[in-house]
Amino acid sequence: MEKDPVCGMLMGPKQAAAQRVHEGRTYYFCSTECLKKSDQAPARYVAVTQSHAKKDHP
Ligand SMILES: [Zn+2]
Repeated sequence: MEKDPVCGMLMGPKQAAAQRVHEGRTYYFCSTECLKKSDQAPARYVAVTQSHAKKDHP
């Protein structure tokens, strides 16, 4: 399962509506809306996921 870094939705890679490679890692998005959001503020979403943030369980 892959996690959409924007909304947190879990999905299989084949279910993802969009994907994006960022710094060697592939991120999957449930919709192009989420992809757009991550494009607008990549640090906000992608960096948080990479650093194993404290927000795993909000
Ligand atoms: Zn999403």
